[in-house]
Amino acid sequence: MSIDTFRAEIREYIAEHCPDSMKNRALHFEDAHETYSTPDADKWLKAMAAKGLTAPTWPKEYGAAGLSYEENRVYQEELAAAKALPPLAGMGTAMIGPTLLEFGTDEQKARHLPKIVSGEVRWCQGYSEPGSGSDLASLQTKAVIEGDHFVINGQKIWTSGAQHADWMFALVRTDPNAAKHDGISFVLLDMHQKGVTIKPIQLISGSSPFCETFFDDAIARRDDLVGELNKGWTVGKRLLQYERSAAPPARNKNQKKPVNAFAEVAREAFGERNGKINNTDARDNVIRQTMSEKALKLTVERVTDESRSGKAPGATTSIFKYVGSTLSKEGSSLKSQLRGSDGVGWEGDEFSEDAISATRGWLRDRAVTIYGGTNEVQLNIIAKRVLGLPD
Ligand SMILES: Cc1cc2nc3c(=O)[nH]c(=O)nc-3n(C[C@H](O)[C@H](O)[C@H](O)COP(=O)(O)OP(=O)(O)OC[C@H]3O[C@@H](n4cnc5c(N)ncnc54)[C@H](O)[C@@H]3O)c2cc1C
Repeated sequence: MSIDTFRAEIREYIAEHCPDSMKNRALHFEDAHETYSTPDADKWLKAMAAKGLTAPTWPKEYGAAGLSYEENRVYQEELAAAKALPPLAGMGTAMIGPTLLEFGTDEQKARHLPKIVSGEVRWCQGYSEPGSGSDLASLQTKAVIEGDHFVINGQKIWTSGAQHADWMFALVRTDPNAAKHDGISFVLLDMHQKGVTIKPIQLISGSSPFCETFFDDAIARRDDLVGELNKGWTVGKRLLQYERSAAPPARNKNQKKPVNAFAEVAREAFGERNGKINNTDARDNVIRQTMSEKALKLTVERVTDESRSGKAPGATTSIFKYVGSTLSKEGSSLKSQLRGSDGVGWEGDEFSEDAISATRGWLRDRAVTIYGGTNEVQLNIIAKRVLGLPD
């Protein structure tokens, strides 16, 4: 099939199956579960999962679409052109799936991947512990082999979506006498068992996007050890690189020039003179932000093009994580700043829905330079692993 025919077909399929309520909206970390818990979201998921489009590039043997690099690019462009949310989002497709494709046994892939593609099983990440965040390798949750399973005791924290998850991928200490980065293993465990207790952490906003997770003699099957025993650090690090490499969507070359949201907000606040934003500082800030975002997007596209061979991501993903999260935070601060007093609207009739949502977005974006490794940690990785600077 030619790429043009493929584009026409995928466009038609999206138009036919994407409900209006799954279009023209942003996906936020805090309310992602609610966004994907509606009958419309379920319809959208089922229609796309039937064609494997929930995990477009994974092999067909796992129920995925097996799209080529070029076909996937077209598919992402058509989703963006339709302003449609992805049919499935989360740690299954973005993190553990690619990690299993690289490190999993054939049996693990056959058992876990089809349920990720269908959206039947949701995953959470058991990495951080109280006292082990940036210094993740100091983690203390212990796993002991007993017959054909591991017995796990300890605690994880900041486990996003644990209360909605069916399975967890976790880093656990399997050799307490080994050096810090050794003696860690990467295991998969069922969240619906009596040894697992979940306590949602309530935020000031009232929502609970993440939890504390306690293990009291929780069980992981021995054949759910991913990679070698005591060599889980390598697997865990690669998963983080998949997390950090989540690239912004490619732009559809047929699409009209996208609206510049910063310029719109600035025009609304300061008006226009001779076709320009009527405030020099605002104009400078909008131009600087827009150029930086564009430069990042082009760089990500170039690197993605260069690595079309399907090579696994490396330490350079830390550059994208660092620049992307910093720009995202600066962008939402700029929008709030441009709005003036409207930029701190939290609730009440005097603020528009747009202004309230922007303030919440600005606060929410404080988190982007923390999860998946803080900015300082990314700088350390870039210094050591990309630039080769001494410790
Ligand atoms: C929204 C959100 C979702 C999350 N979801 C999950 C999840 O699903 N699963 C999970 O396991 N974890 C999750 N986390 C936890 C996240 O991975 C940790 O918060 C992060 O790794 C930082 O660890 P910490 O909070 O313990 O901070 P700390 O490690 O205590 O860091 C505190 C400060 O010290 C700085 N610092 C620490 N060490 C160094 C160093 N060597 N050099 C320079 N500066 C340093 C840090 O940059 C930071 O500014 C989530 C966090 C957030 C905010």
